Amino acid sequence: MKKVLSLVLILILVLTVSGCAAQQDDGKIKIVTTIFPEYDFARAVVGANGHVSMLIPEGSDMHSFEPTAQDLADISESDLFIYVGGKSDKWVEKVLENINKRKTKVLKLSDVVSFGDEGEYDEHIWTSPSNAAKIINAISESICEIDAENDIFYERNAEKYIDEIVDVAELTKIVIAAAKHKKIVVADRFPLKYFTEYYGLEYTAAFGGCEHDTDADVETVAHLINDIKKDKLSAVFHIELSNKNLAETVAKSTGAQVIELHSAHNISAEDYKKGVTYVDIMKRNAYALEKGLN
Ligand SMILES: [Zn+2]
Repeated sequence: MKKVLSLVLILILVLTVSGCAAQQDDGKIKIVTTIFPEYDFARAVVGANGHVSMLIPEGSDMHSFEPTAQDLADISESDLFIYVGGKSDKWVEKVLENINKRKTKVLKLSDVVSFGDEGEYDEHIWTSPSNAAKIINAISESICEIDAENDIFYERNAEKYIDEIVDVAELTKIVIAAAKHKKIVVADRFPLKYFTEYYGLEYTAAFGGCEHDTDADVETVAHLINDIKKDKLSAVFHIELSNKNLAETVAKSTGAQVIELHSAHNISAEDYKKGVTYVDIMKRNAYALEKGLN
């Protein structure tokens, strides 16, 4: 009798626990993303119909990221998982072997926009507005497949967000067209290849991509200083969440002002809390260029 009772008790317990879990499940679409641009785009498209989370903690460097057990659980419980598919999220491939693809839809950004195999490898594809638009459309398509009933809502959200990005791109083009210089010197890692190509900006950067550490040798420093002096540039740029050491060294010997250009790759904890968007970041870049190119 005792045994039967405890069995009943266990059953009740199990039922209550799963009942609780079911109550927390509000039926909204669960989207898990690796980095900020995916997070921001998915948030804009899914609106109030979904929960979007970002695995790489805000303010941290994605290039040294390792997923926790909780991250893996979140991915396998999601309806849509979005990742880049580059060198810096190689860990994802292993994770994907163990998830139920019928439950979780997977969107890999490198299937939407290629990294460009000729010349320098660069996976920061979202820094170009036209690539950003392609990515947003792909996210919208994936969400529509999950929730076809509301497809018009998602498509409209995508369109609206792309319009905002186009507006910022236009503003940036105007700034660059009116600027005295069309060249930037970035004394930092360089995740802005697609950005500069889109706007037709020339650049000199201390390090290609952003896999390298930021210890520059003497020649690199000399090269950056020389480029600023030669073209009489007024600014030296660094990227987000940088220690700025190199930019400050270059500034000291050139008198150039130190300005941030943001690749939207990593977002600071403060900006994240404030709900800063990709569009906000690109607006900041337009003002940064207005200051730094004149
Ligand atoms: Zn990067």
